[in-house]
Amino acid sequence: MAKKQFKTESKRLLDLMINSIYTNKEIFLRELISNASDALDKRHYLSLTDNTLASEKPLSISISIDKENRILIIEDNGIGMNKKDLEENLGTIAHSGSMDFKNALEKNEEIDIIGQFGVGFYSAFMVAQKIVVETKKTDEPGYRWVSSGQDGYTIDETDRQDIGTKISLHLREDSEETYYSEYLDKYTIESLVKKYSDYIRYPITMMVEKSVEVEGKEGEYETVEEEKTLNTMVPLWRRNKKDITEEDYNSFYKSQFGDWNNPLEVIHYSLEGKVNYKALLYIPSKVPFDFYSKDYQAGLQLYSKGVFIMSDAKDMIPPYYNFVKGLIDTDDVSLNISREILQQDSQLQAINKSVSKRIKSTLVNMLVKEREKYEEFFQNFGYALKYGVYSDYGMHKKELQDLLLFYSSKEDKYVTLKEYKERMLENQNEIYYASGTSIEQIKKIPQLEQLVDKGYEVLYFLDNIDEFVIMMMRDYDGKVFQSAQKASTDIESEEEKTEKEKLTQDNKGLFEDLSKALADKVKEVRISSRLKTHPVCLVADDMGISMEMEKYLAQLPTNEEVKATKILEINPDHEIFKVLQKVYETRKDSIDDYADLLYQQALLIEGFPVDDPVDFSNKICQLMKEANN
Ligand code: ADP
Ligand code: MG
Repeated sequence: MAKKQFKTESKRLLDLMINSIYTNKEIFLRELISNASDALDKRHYLSLTDNTLASEKPLSISISIDKENRILIIEDNGIGMNKKDLEENLGTIAHSGSMDFKNALEKNEEIDIIGQFGVGFYSAFMVAQKIVVETKKTDEPGYRWVSSGQDGYTIDETDRQDIGTKISLHLREDSEETYYSEYLDKYTIESLVKKYSDYIRYPITMMVEKSVEVEGKEGEYETVEEEKTLNTMVPLWRRNKKDITEEDYNSFYKSQFGDWNNPLEVIHYSLEGKVNYKALLYIPSKVPFDFYSKDYQAGLQLYSKGVFIMSDAKDMIPPYYNFVKGLIDTDDVSLNISREILQQDSQLQAINKSVSKRIKSTLVNMLVKEREKYEEFFQNFGYALKYGVYSDYGMHKKELQDLLLFYSSKEDKYVTLKEYKERMLENQNEIYYASGTSIEQIKKIPQLEQLVDKGYEVLYFLDNIDEFVIMMMRDYDGKVFQSAQKASTDIESEEEKTEKEKLTQDNKGLFEDLSKALADKVKEVRISSRLKTHPVCLVADDMGISMEMEKYLAQLPTNEEVKATKILEINPDHEIFKVLQKVYETRKDSIDDYADLLYQQALLIEGFPVDDPVDFSNKICQLMKEANN
């Protein structure tokens, strides 16, 4: 029979496959198996109304290997093809799937995208120099389609009796780059089936050798051939929840997602309605070692009709839940979807939304019912949630704010903002926080003395990101955040305010001189209403950055120095204040040194280096000498 030419469009795709520089050639098997599975689906469906299509043998896919002749055979008893089908389906790429691929290809010349597509039948040319398709459909004759690639194909009639399709791949000779013979190896085939097609609904079988004891002869073995089903057929996530043990979930997690540890939480459900999908999601119990590096692969695995499409589908899940591992299986997406198309697919966006909702409700549930477990989770992945609040200009605030935990001065444990708000004092309008490096360190912060004493609750900000987070949040449920280390902490009664004003007036000269002495260092020296036992402290001006932020920014590798505008506060009830008053009256010229010493001390308490350590220690020595004169 005369040779026919491929349609131009097909030719281009074919060229690409034949000259493929794409390394992931193995996906051809996935493609052929998924075609076979589709053909079985069609036959099964039609046989429901057409008796002649009912199969005596169970619908299945069988793989066999002819090592000597370098042929890999994939056969199914599916719907089969007639002559017209062969022309249309294998001679052109007019059918939807590969068409999408071709279109995307034209827009994007990157060869890399091949692996992310269901590239279809032609992918077999990546490994085969010649392909023979023998096929028969119901009562029509059988046909043989043969092609060696670009120079076209032939179709001959055959006397094939069985309905279905047999595809024989005559593998290419091994080259320096590629060892095609690996596809003649049963173990390789078996593992590829497991990897890509484990959950195909029909059995995928292959004859395998097995060593068995010879009957009646103990200790004597012989090798027998035996048909083996390579795939599990029913994926874990498609099984009934009540038939699945914790061990099933755990071992699947560990093997599928490469973790040594059992997961902290399993989320398994299936949704039908506006969106249709099954999800099996896991929250790890430990932070993956590369979680905070750019190598971390976020995203879920995506399956369509039980066929594996891609790993790390990032658009299936919002970035702030990127610690979640798992998979989505949906019939609503075609095998041929690409990562690029994934982003725009409205069905997938709907799934993303729905998955987020489920993760959120799982976390909220854990927070309410299993507090300790939630705290463990938050220790591991709280940073991701906080970053989620901070990113995208705070647009995920609503979604995430009630999942945050902060250490509480009052409770001595981690609390939510909601819990904080419920406990706020009657006259309290702000949520107080203090930043530091450890719970122990923050506990000793002078600025907290009066706050805590007066019964206010203070949240400890232990992560660098915390201040950035609340800067983005501005408020929680109408209550603004206020740093205990910033100027205008509003915790004084009217009486206290009047008293403070009077004291300031009475010592006007002293404070003016102190402020003057430190004019280039602080904005102001003033009486404090937040100290109890400490003599002095620094607070940051409301405008501008906090002192913790200053420290944080100082570590970053930029030249620009950004500093907090500071105010030095003095405790009027402290012995030192009386000393200052006395010095001001009797030895006015020493007041500058006293001011400087107090300021440098405040710096030290705050965790800043002193400006001039030599000068500082000289001044202290001087003071010691004077005290003994
Ligand atoms: P797609 O699967 O996206 O349609 P393919 O290139 O994989 O694209 O397959 C092209 C077409 O060839 C299929 O749509 C189907 O009609 C036909 N086909 C391929 N393999 C088989 C098979 N084993 N049995 C029946 N038809 C098949
Ligand atoms: Mg296909």
